[in-house]
Amino acid sequence: MARYTGPLCRLCRAEQKKLFLKGDRCKSDKCPINKKRAIPGKDPKARTGKRSDYGVQLREKQRIKRMYGMLEKQFRLFFERALRMPGVTGENLIGLLERRLDNVVFRMHLAANRNQARQIVGHGHILVNGKPVNIPSYLVKPGDVVEVKESSKKLNVIKDSLKEVSKSGSYSWISIDVDALKGTFVSIPHRADVTDLADIKEQLVVELYSK
Ligand code: SF4
Repeated sequence: MARYTGPLCRLCRAEQKKLFLKGDRCKSDKCPINKKRAIPGKDPKARTGKRSDYGVQLREKQRIKRMYGMLEKQFRLFFERALRMPGVTGENLIGLLERRLDNVVFRMHLAANRNQARQIVGHGHILVNGKPVNIPSYLVKPGDVVEVKESSKKLNVIKDSLKEVSKSGSYSWISIDVDALKGTFVSIPHRADVTDLADIKEQLVVELYSK
């Protein structure tokens, strides 16, 4: 599956918002957003004008898509699936994104960021219900057990990331057994439970794709 391989901080600078793509560095003073670095490749004076509705919707879609490390085609497929589901499309979309296996691995603190989680899954270090799954976009269901393969439990990247559990906290929809490197995806989170996306306006994505 294709993925973006350029500089991650550049994506945040393009949105002028933190997308938390790098783990620890995102919370430090080294983050270019904290330093108010300019939008890449543009004259700052050209950006001071008011954005059109389309521009606002487009930027929000790009922001969510980049946070979850997805390219346009796959993100659009997720949206279309959310559209076919009963309920509120925007909330369905967030629910689907949260069910991605790479996202669940990240939320379990087995990786410092979603990009790293994607690599851990892609390299075959993760089991779902005891079976190896190496597809980052695999959708985890409520009750599924996600764990690190026995032979991968010594990986430094996973051990280092787990040190952050106490700092980063846990999520109500995933129960984690840190010692066993195992977790259960208890339920699809309600929109309000995903507090780190509190300032995301997924409705703008619905408006954009509904044009
Ligand atoms: Fe984005 Fe993190 Fe880079 Fe800051 S450090 S610009 S939040 S990826």
